[in-house]
Amino acid sequence: MNVADPVELLANLVRIPSINPRERAEPAETELAENIALWASERGMQAHTEEVLDGRRNVIVTLPGDDDRPLLLESHLDTVETDGMTIDPFDPVVRDGRLYGRGACDAKAPLAVFLTAMARLAERGPRPRTVVLAGVVDEEHLYRGVTALRASGLPTPVGAIVGEPTELRMVVAHKGCMRCRIEAHGEGGHSSQPWDKTNAIEVAADVVRYLQREHAPRLAALARPLVGPPSLAVTLIEGGQGPNVLPDSCVLTIDRRTVGGEDPHEVWAALRAELTDRWPVTVHEPHIVDYSLDSDPADPFVCTVAGSLRESGLDAAPLGVGYGTDASKIALDGVPAVVFGPGSIACAHTADESVPLDEVRTAVDVVERVLRTGGAPA
Ligand SMILES: [Zn+2]
Repeated sequence: MNVADPVELLANLVRIPSINPRERAEPAETELAENIALWASERGMQAHTEEVLDGRRNVIVTLPGDDDRPLLLESHLDTVETDGMTIDPFDPVVRDGRLYGRGACDAKAPLAVFLTAMARLAERGPRPRTVVLAGVVDEEHLYRGVTALRASGLPTPVGAIVGEPTELRMVVAHKGCMRCRIEAHGEGGHSSQPWDKTNAIEVAADVVRYLQREHAPRLAALARPLVGPPSLAVTLIEGGQGPNVLPDSCVLTIDRRTVGGEDPHEVWAALRAELTDRWPVTVHEPHIVDYSLDSDPADPFVCTVAGSLRESGLDAAPLGVGYGTDASKIALDGVPAVVFGPGSIACAHTADESVPLDEVRTAVDVVERVLRTGGAPA
């Protein structure tokens, strides 16, 4: 049996469209999931798919090893849309050492990297530890694929590598976020009689000023080394009924970015207590919550990944980034998780998405080395 070529595999993955359907009920990622399962089972691995919703399926590939507590490789199956692309999204072309197509770097390259590294171990060993690859749906929208994976009964992994384009750097930290609406209440009435009336827009203005001048500056004390401080921004405002009516409601939307050590639900509860103490406001339940990633660079699994990067002559210093990933959800179960993959986030979601193939090949070596050690330092 031939050891897989990651470039040929990547081209085949790009040829299968897997655009995230967002709220539409379509099995968008399923053909890709089934293709990966077939590819893996032809190379001696166990593979099956699991429905997440609307016929959309995660794919789980297992390569059993001596220690059955698994090492997890996770990447997403879905891509963003192809509108406005200047290349054929599903007919991959190799030019100047890069492969072009939708999903080339985000995130079919990491899928090809993980599968190739596993195929090499399946063929020639060693297999000190069980390796599980999870290709999940819906990363680009509501993270329902990784949420289903966490609920699927998979034994807690010793560590996880989550595939995203990091230019072969090891990302251990990123921010999370909490978005909610703050509704200021007023009394309403004729605008010619404003005296002694609570005006919802004026309450909202006070809240904005308070958030900006008193609340946000306190966040600096929570800064983390790789991602800096949390932030808070007021991003939307909506209020008033007419030019001659006193407003009885004004609604602000805030975007609060969290760092390691902060639980977004606790952040919301504390903010609600702080504001409702002072003003006639309702702080509505968050409509968006995402978690931060803050893996310990001294963790043995993280050190193993760093060691493998060094052996490939790469920069092994842990990195923090601005975008969110599935790694933060996996880390909620106490799993040391890093984000790693070929290509650049600046090239993800673009009109001519591509990935450098030398980075794809190097990434296979890095991941294969981690799998050979079983995820613990030698
Ligand atoms: Zn991605």
